[in-house]
Amino acid sequence: MNKPAELKLATVPVWINGKAVVPQARMGEVYNPATGQVTKRVPYCDVSVIDAAVKAAAAALPEWRDASILRRARVMQKFLALLQQNQKQLAVLITEEHGKTLPDAMGSVQRGMEVVEFACGIPQLLKGEYSENVGTAVDTHTLRQPVGVCAGITPFNFPAMVPLWMFPMAIACGNTFILKPSEKVPSASIRMAELLKEAGLPDGVFNVVHGDKAAVDAILNHSGIHAVSFVGSTPIAKYIYETCAKSGKRVQALGGAKNHAVVLPDADMEFTADALIGAAYGSAGERCMAISAVVAVGSAADPLVKLLEQKAKKIVVGPGDRDGVEMGPLITGEHRDKVLGFVEKGIAEKAKLVLDGRKTGMQEGYFVGTTLFDKVTTEMEIYRNEIFGPVLVVLRADSIEEAIEIINSNPYANGTAIFTASGGAARRFENEVQVGMVGVNVPIPVPVAFYSFGGWKNSLFGDLHVHGMEGVKFYTRTKVVTTRWPHQDTPAPGLNMPTLG
Ligand code: NAD
Repeated sequence: MNKPAELKLATVPVWINGKAVVPQARMGEVYNPATGQVTKRVPYCDVSVIDAAVKAAAAALPEWRDASILRRARVMQKFLALLQQNQKQLAVLITEEHGKTLPDAMGSVQRGMEVVEFACGIPQLLKGEYSENVGTAVDTHTLRQPVGVCAGITPFNFPAMVPLWMFPMAIACGNTFILKPSEKVPSASIRMAELLKEAGLPDGVFNVVHGDKAAVDAILNHSGIHAVSFVGSTPIAKYIYETCAKSGKRVQALGGAKNHAVVLPDADMEFTADALIGAAYGSAGERCMAISAVVAVGSAADPLVKLLEQKAKKIVVGPGDRDGVEMGPLITGEHRDKVLGFVEKGIAEKAKLVLDGRKTGMQEGYFVGTTLFDKVTTEMEIYRNEIFGPVLVVLRADSIEEAIEIINSNPYANGTAIFTASGGAARRFENEVQVGMVGVNVPIPVPVAFYSFGGWKNSLFGDLHVHGMEGVKFYTRTKVVTTRWPHQDTPAPGLNMPTLG
């Protein structure tokens, strides 16, 4: 936790009503996880700042809600072009504050931009339904109207992509938005706010506030906010869901994960091991879709573990902005210590430590090396918890039935994958596994932007997933309009006639 005393640290502003401002607030610190140095300060907003953001968003709502759909789509098109031009700059900010490698950060911005691309099609997506003659001279149509002032609360691990899952859809649908990014990685959101302004978004439509629980609670308790999207850990997701439900806010709250990959003996082991290495250790395992548990079926186990060990050993660990580095640091010293604590627990629980990442040789920063456990059982803490670090555990099962049973008994259900050469086994897995996103020979089955992203069970509280059509549904309310325009010769409804007769 070093702070260079001679440097005056910059403060990341909030963004309210189209302007960057630094409010009077408690201040937090932003770190570069590769060095452990404090690099910036960030205001932890209180009720008064959240209220100012809500007032700005509420004031901007009437004009934006009534703006033509084409105008809203064109702002998204311009925003998309600006994101493309500034992708590298955003990626550099992400690497500085999160630690992931630059190519990984570039890829994450790319995935976020795809949601903006989808939002550019909003005129098509908001088309309603129409039925003629539901009764004599009676027609029915539906409207999709914006929900109002929406808020997004996001985690540290995707500083641009997860916010981009939310606000482009909300804004394109005619809502106004308040984003509270993770206080650990606040800068990318402010840069995106500047780009939205440059794209022609009216002031007040998009606002960014920062902070911890106090800022989140001020959002949850504000009567001027109508919908909340959350992505983060399961205990907080549950809290957000329950608190919003009590006050009648619309809510989607995506939580944590323990994603399993099942490997059958007929899988191409070289291909599978390469896929699993990327899925387990990419972004140092700090991905909600990381594969953190492998269920090796029958004779797949021994050759697979050998290949995983060989490949994991070769991964180059270091600062994410350095050429050739494949895995960066963890987000904080506290989180590194938690991950190291799980490695100790795994050893104490008598799992077989195949590869030990506890010592990396790095002098500074929050690094943990690639770690692999074999012969893990479902009772062990290293299996039962989301470690959120570069620790892959291998369980062994005798059959595909047993593998599916293991997955379906786990409280998390975000993503899962199967590796096999058998279409029949893959089809059965797809059908029986109780998980929201499934990959067949695809280790991280993140849906493309025009499908929706979300898990089941403790990985999502709420009904609608993010982006894709479910995103459009979340950020709009449906209204059904029934209309009668009688011809002169249509008899008027009498007392004894059914209304729609
Ligand atoms: P987190 O739950 O600690 O924080 C998420 C957000 O909640 C942040 O903005 C934070 O400021 C706020 N927050 C933290 N503690 C709070 C509290 N007590 N009360 C109210 N708000 C609080 O999560 P994180 O550590 O930033 O992110 C990692 C977690 O997010 C992992 O569990 C990961 O699986 C999950 N995640 C899930 C998805 C998904 O799509 N399901 C995607 C990315 C990350």
